[in-house]
Amino acid sequence: MSRGTLDAIASLPEPVRGRFGEFGGQYVAETLMPAIAELELAWRAARGDAAFWAEVDALLADYVGRPSRLYRARRLSASVGADVWLKREDLNHTGAHKINNCIGQAVLARRMGKRRLIAETGAGQHGVATATVAALFGLPCEIYMGAEDVVRQALNVERMRLLGATVHAVESGTRTLKDAMNEALRDWVTNVGDTFYLIGSVAGPHPYPWMVRDLQSVIGREARAQILEGAGRLPDACVACVGGGSNAGGLFAPFIADAGVQLVGVEAAGEGVATGRHAATLGAGRVGVLHGSKSYVLTRPDGQIAHAHSISAGLDYPGVGPEHAAWKEQGRVRYVARTDDEALAALERLARTEGILCALETAHAIAALDEVAAAVGPTGIIIVGLSGRGDKDMVTVAQRRQT
Ligand SMILES: *Cc1c(COP(=O)(O)O)cnc(C)c1O
Repeated sequence: MSRGTLDAIASLPEPVRGRFGEFGGQYVAETLMPAIAELELAWRAARGDAAFWAEVDALLADYVGRPSRLYRARRLSASVGADVWLKREDLNHTGAHKINNCIGQAVLARRMGKRRLIAETGAGQHGVATATVAALFGLPCEIYMGAEDVVRQALNVERMRLLGATVHAVESGTRTLKDAMNEALRDWVTNVGDTFYLIGSVAGPHPYPWMVRDLQSVIGREARAQILEGAGRLPDACVACVGGGSNAGGLFAPFIADAGVQLVGVEAAGEGVATGRHAATLGAGRVGVLHGSKSYVLTRPDGQIAHAHSISAGLDYPGVGPEHAAWKEQGRVRYVARTDDEALAALERLARTEGILCALETAHAIAALDEVAAAVGPTGIIIVGLSGRGDKDMVTVAQRRQT
């Protein structure tokens, strides 16, 4: 199994000098370079070590509950007019894909002898996943969160505290995710000797985008084997929502070399891309640097980083992972966007056809299914990344349905 994981990981594309095409890199302060260099070395060694993957695989099986199911959604299929299979990351412990990455980075932190975990979080989902693995590994954990988000996501703050983490409300800037990320980087510089910075998506400086994609590739590796087993062939398309891009990157990476498999990433169009209130970074942003790497970013007319907007807190990020930028430029992945209203309608459609309440992030992928079904035809096979469950969004959904 772990030998198999090692070989499968080795077959995934590696960044060249820390970059995917022109994107990625290490745009960080000089003081951070030693920490990043140490991490890169440790990751390279772990990635090529069957013992590392044995430890990760065992935790993913026993603690997370993997492999997650690939479920053939017959009533949703009839509704959209294609053969739709759902990759059920919502069934993982903690209810989403983020735990896959956190387990892997926690195992790496322990190998590196780091005694303390820090992380940034926006919606709180990554903070909860990090606090979860910190409890599991018996490590102290500090989470940076914009003061605005601490208020908006009170339930997740309570979860993190119950799990034993310390939550810092960041008062600088717009008091949201990007300020929390800056503060976490500052902590890392100051405490680099004993601290591991656990980034939650395929963003940040090299090697994070590479490492997180490899750790999340368990989604695509399993789905590929499961569809070959269940349908006897590769799918015609894979669809996933894109915030920072980790669940999409993890699903897509093992299919990149399969030219016949269309890959579709779905960003948040918020209130509509034309309104300026959206999070469609690849669709409407431009090339720039954010949080240590070069990729697409959302900017204001004056060049400053713009405020992203989406009904789903997990997609509400003005950047996107550098490998997605490369996939976009290569034309390998097609990126589309769906609005808040379209996502809400899709959430309801999945609930009514399959009895599954998905996260609002995930609902953006469901909302793109009609378009993808039209492209692959009625006998076409589509795999959808069902990134998370909807419990956390029920208040938001209920409020929107009343207005
Ligand atoms: C955080 C989150 C996302 C967005 O993050 P990615 O890195 O783009 O995957 C999507 N879905 C769910 C359920 C999430 O919690």
